[in-house]
Amino acid sequence: KGFFGRLTEGLSRTSSKLASGVTDIFTKRKLDEETLEEFEDLLISADLGLGPTERVIDRLRKERVGQDVTDEEVKTILADVVSETLEPLEKPLTINPGHAPHIVLVVGVNGAGKTTTIGKLASKYVADGHSVLLAAGDTFRAAAIEQLAVWGERAGVPVVTKAHGADAAGLAYEAIEQAREEKRDVVLIDTAGRLQNRSELMDELGKIVRVIRKLAPDAPHDTLLVLDATVGQNAISQAQAFTEIAGVTGLVMTKLDGTARGGILVALGDKFALPIHYIGIGEGIEDLRPFKAQDFAKALTA
Ligand code: GDP
Repeated sequence: KGFFGRLTEGLSRTSSKLASGVTDIFTKRKLDEETLEEFEDLLISADLGLGPTERVIDRLRKERVGQDVTDEEVKTILADVVSETLEPLEKPLTINPGHAPHIVLVVGVNGAGKTTTIGKLASKYVADGHSVLLAAGDTFRAAAIEQLAVWGERAGVPVVTKAHGADAAGLAYEAIEQAREEKRDVVLIDTAGRLQNRSELMDELGKIVRVIRKLAPDAPHDTLLVLDATVGQNAISQAQAFTEIAGVTGLVMTKLDGTARGGILVALGDKFALPIHYIGIGEGIEDLRPFKAQDFAKALTA
């Protein structure tokens, strides 16, 4: 099964909720204000966000009020709006070898999938012919350090680690120095995601960025925020916090497999207008792919 098939299957809990709602609301009814209101509630409860929901409703109202409308037609309009909302955000992360190295800082709360995403990206970039180095900057979790070491081994790339509890900024500095010595073109830096203590997190990420800039004033070249789809609306507040704290430049959404909250990516895209670089649909190396708005819209409305 290809990635699109697996994405569709992964999003089936989200899409079946939408599809059965659409069928309940629109079957054998003319489109009127009452059906529109019910549909609006459905879209909001499916996490699509206010902006995209209003655009779907407006389009239906303009084009179809007083007419019969099939659920397939409604789903097509929904897919179109989702696609139009997310297409401008479909931007693969590009590694600029001229940065020597291109420095990517990866942020997000614990459990979002940062370490796993870095491991998958390492393999991907190696396959693309890049020379990669990883920095195990989540020094608060011993398991994260080990986990990244395993991914590094799998991808055949070195992982700079320090003991549990060590200074993450110092580690980032050493990793960049090592990458320069070894002429590597990508450094992926993991970080700890303790959002419970916002000021500590802000201090720590701020320090990492300051230290990185001592070596490379224009870095980090990308700051990826990793968000877990299964947390639904919580992803919005995480994005709010991390964009304020860390100057996020792009998103990765994980765990779109088996969640009923997949609609949240539409709300996030609409609200933050940040590039969506990758989506994850599983724990394996092949389960992270560049985001494609049309495929996502189709899978969401399957
Ligand atoms: P971190 O704390 O942000 O570094 O998160 P981890 O990378 O340790 O991931 C937390 C858990 O989520 C691990 O068990 C991962 O295997 C799992 N995970 C990561 N991405 C995905 C995904 O796309 N789908 C699923 N089902 N699990 C994932």
